[in-house]
Amino acid sequence: EIRLENISKVFGENLVVDDVSLTIQDGAFAVLVGPSGCGKSTILRMLAGLEQQTSGNVWIGDKMVNDIPPSKRDIAMVFQNYALYPTMTVKGNIEFGLMNRKVPKKERQRIVEEIAAIVGLTDHLNKKPDKLSGGQRQRVALARAMVKKPKVFIFDEPLSNLDAKLRTQMRTELIELHKKLGTTFVYVTHDQVEAMSMGDEIIILNQGVVQQKDTPSNVYGNPRNTFAAEFIGQPP
Ligand code: ATP
Ligand code: MG
Repeated sequence: EIRLENISKVFGENLVVDDVSLTIQDGAFAVLVGPSGCGKSTILRMLAGLEQQTSGNVWIGDKMVNDIPPSKRDIAMVFQNYALYPTMTVKGNIEFGLMNRKVPKKERQRIVEEIAAIVGLTDHLNKKPDKLSGGQRQRVALARAMVKKPKVFIFDEPLSNLDAKLRTQMRTELIELHKKLGTTFVYVTHDQVEAMSMGDEIIILNQGVVQQKDTPSNVYGNPRNTFAAEFIGQPP
């Protein structure tokens, strides 16, 4: 499991994350949802180790990771502005992390093919990123995160650059990918429809404070306060 324990973050004079405690079970698809500026990305970044919390502890499994750098946290991240290497092919982009870890060529080939098949890139391995659609680029970013075989994937609004149709399609693909991998997904979005359609656990955040953490049906049928009710109830 992942555990945030009394996490706060202060930027200058602003308390942007206010004493957040959260437990996310292994294998969950947890969605952190709330309005722009409420602290979602900051929480993800602290979980990944890209930002140091002002106070509190981050646990991954039974290990307190406060002092562990991002590369050693067994977490892979997929962001909204996924930067691919423009001069490398899709294969090169996916393979890159493996070359860094000195995985032998044959084994690299096998892993790249396996992952490309999962994310539907088999026919595009030799293309450069500028020859891909937005959705295909998103899949390359996903594939690149997958080669690490991490315990936890975190996503920060990964679909917000895609058009509506592709976004809906990628939502379904991510849900299927989650089932297939069985790893923990922590997914951030400001879109309550996206949150409710994807997560098995919804964490509603406002002004750095967790308003409710519940199943989608409980969040919908049994909102804990006015904010939760209005936020989930509002049109997309
Ligand atoms: P969005 O949905 O727009 O991405 P968010 O919920 O991810 O919003 P954060 O990026 O976590 O919000 O930001 C929370 C608050 O912290 C905002 O008020 C933001 O301006 C502030 N903030 C974030 N990063 C920094 C920083 N490096 N320095 C100062 N303030 C920051
Ligand atoms: Mg954000």
